[in-house]
Amino acid sequence: MNVIDEIKANIDIVDLINSMGVGLRRSGRSFVGFCPFHPNSRTPAFHVYPDTQSFYCFGCHASGTAFDFVMRKQGLDFKGALELLAERAGIRLEPKNDAQRQEDARRARLLEINGVAARYFNYVLLNLSRGAAGREYVARRGINQEAIDAFQIGYSLDDWGHLFTYLHDKKGYSVEDIIAAGLAIPGERGPYDRFRNRLIFPIRNVRGEVIGFGGRALGDAQPKYLNTPETPLFKKSEVLYGLDLARDAIRTANRAIVVEGYVDVITAHQHGFRNVVAPLGTALSKAHINQLKRLTDAVYLALDADAAGQKATLRGLETIRTATEEEGEGRMVTTAQGIVRLENDVTIRIIRLPAGRDPDEVIAADPALWQQLVEQAAPVMDFYLEAYTAGLDMHDPAQQRLALERIIPLLSELDGAAQRVYVARVEQLTGMRSELIVDLLRARVQPARRNERARRTTPSPPPPPAPAPVAAAPLDERRRKTEAYLLALALRYPSVNVAIEKLLEEYNARRREAGELFGAGLEDLLEEPLHQAIWRAYLATPLELRPTDAESLQAWVETLGEPLTSEAKALIATLNRRPDDVRYRHEAEQCARILRKAQVMARIHRYNERLRELDNEEEIQRILHHIRELGAYAEQITQPRRSSTFPDLRDLLGQG
Ligand SMILES: [Zn+2]
Repeated sequence: MNVIDEIKANIDIVDLINSMGVGLRRSGRSFVGFCPFHPNSRTPAFHVYPDTQSFYCFGCHASGTAFDFVMRKQGLDFKGALELLAERAGIRLEPKNDAQRQEDARRARLLEINGVAARYFNYVLLNLSRGAAGREYVARRGINQEAIDAFQIGYSLDDWGHLFTYLHDKKGYSVEDIIAAGLAIPGERGPYDRFRNRLIFPIRNVRGEVIGFGGRALGDAQPKYLNTPETPLFKKSEVLYGLDLARDAIRTANRAIVVEGYVDVITAHQHGFRNVVAPLGTALSKAHINQLKRLTDAVYLALDADAAGQKATLRGLETIRTATEEEGEGRMVTTAQGIVRLENDVTIRIIRLPAGRDPDEVIAADPALWQQLVEQAAPVMDFYLEAYTAGLDMHDPAQQRLALERIIPLLSELDGAAQRVYVARVEQLTGMRSELIVDLLRARVQPARRNERARRTTPSPPPPPAPAPVAAAPLDERRRKTEAYLLALALRYPSVNVAIEKLLEEYNARRREAGELFGAGLEDLLEEPLHQAIWRAYLATPLELRPTDAESLQAWVETLGEPLTSEAKALIATLNRRPDDVRYRHEAEQCARILRKAQVMARIHRYNERLRELDNEEEIQRILHHIRELGAYAEQITQPRRSSTFPDLRDLLGQG
C-alpha cells in the first residue's frame, strides 16, 4: 500500500470536510452542505459521497477527492495537501533519517524565531517612543490600525543590536539560528541587526506562517527595500505577499490582481479589494502563477505605470509565457473577442493605470476608479502591441522594422484564427501590408526558438501521482447535469440552438469520416429520454409560439404535461443560480463540447472493447483506423477553459 492509499484508508472525506468548516448533513447516501467554492447560502448544492470518498457541487461543479478538496480549500499544491493529510491520518510520509529530522527541527525553530520577531517589530511600531518614525510613515501612507493588525506591520529601530539582544539574551535563541533566519548578520564585533530604521512587512506563506521580512528604508539607507536573504524558509521568487489574506477573495472573485508593492497590497485590502497580492520583486515567476492557478483562472496585472514599471510588466509577462510553455501545454490563444489568453487556464489582463500613479494612490483616492480600471483591463496581446509600438514613428522604415521585430515573435505564438485577427491589427498599427507580415511570420525559424527555450528550461520535478479516478456513478450523474444545463440554456435562449448546430457542423466538417457518425443537432447530444422528449416538444412548437423570455418559458413548460413539466421546471430552476446572462452561449458551447467529447470517447471505448475479441488482421486494421479517426475528431474539440460559473467543466469528463 503506498502512502496515498494509506492516507485514503485512514481519512474519511465526510469527517475531513466537516472539520474544515463545511457543515454537512446526511441526505440519503450522501451528505450535503453549502459549497465552500462558490458563494451561495440558499441552496446546499455541495454533496459528499462516503461510498466513493468524493465530493461534487451541483452549483459550481467542483469535484474530486479528499486531496482535491484540501488543495482547493487551502490553496495548497499536491505535496502540501499530502503533508496535511498525512499528518491528519497520523502517517509518516517516509521514514526520516537523522539529517532530515534535524532539518525539520531547524525549520520549525526558524519559523518560531520569525514569528517572535514579527511580534517584536509590531510591538515596537505600536508602543515604543522610538517607533515614532514608523508610525509617521504608516500614517502618511494612510494605513489604518486594522490593516496594521492584519498584516502585522512593524518597525525596526535605528539600532545595531536591539532585536538581536532581544532574541538572543531574552528569548534564548542561538546566534546561529538568528543568523540563519536572516535577522542578523555576522560582523567582526559580533552579529548585528539586518533591519535598521525600516518599516517591516512580515512575509507569510499561504498557511500564514512568517517566512521572511521586507523592510522599507525610512531614512536614506540603500537599498530602499531590503528583504530577508534566501533561507531554508524563504525563496524570494516564489512568494506572493498577501496571499494568505487574499486566498479566499481570489477564489470567490475568480480573479487575482497582482500589484508591485507591499503598500499597494495593504491599501487594496484596506479598501475592501481583498483579491490583491504582490511578488517581492517585479517579475512574476512560474511559481507565482502556479500558486494563483490553484485559486483562479484569471490573473490581472496592475504594475506601476512609469517606464521602469512598463519594462517590468513586459519582463513579467514573458516569464509567464515561458512558465506555461515549460509545462508543455502553454500556448497563447485568442477568441474572436480578441482576448488573448494563456491556454494553461490562466487569463492574463493588464490593468492600465493613469500615468505616474501607483495602485495604492488610485485606490486610496478613488476606489470606484480602481474598480473601473480593473473592469477595463486590456487583453495581454493588445497591451503588447501598444507597448511595443509606443513612441515609434511608423512612417520611418527603420522604426517600422523595429516594431515588427518585436511583434512577430508574439504573433507566432498565436493560433490560426487569433493570428489572422492580430495580423490585421498589426497592419493597421504599422502600415505594413499583411501579406508581408505573414511572410515574416513564415520565415521565422521555429526550431531555433524551441532550442533557445529548451536551454532556458530547468528540469521540472516529476508530476505528482494522478488522483484516483472518481467513481463511475457520479460521473454519469454529472454528464446528465451537463446535458440538463445545456437543454435549459437552449430552451431559455433561442440563439443557443443555432450556435450549437454551427459548432457541431464545424467539428463534423473538419473530420468528415468520424463526423458522419455524429449528428450536428442539439438533439444529437441528448441521451436522457426525458430531455429528448422535452426538446422534441420544443422543436414541434411553431416558431411564433416558442418561448422568448423567462416568463413565456414558464408558460410553455406548463403546456408540456407530466412528467415533462416537472422535469423542465427543474431544468429551468438551475438557471436561477447563474450570475448573469452575458455568457450563456459560451457556457452552452462548453457543455456541447463536453457532451460531444464524451460521446466520441465512449465510441472509442466501445471500439477498443471490440478490438480485444478480434483476431482477423484485416478487421483489426479497420477498427484501428476508426479509432484513429475518432481520436482526431476528439482532438479538435478544445478543452473548455474554466469559467466562473462552471469552474470545473473539464472535470466532468475526467481524464478523457
Ligand atoms: Zn460549488
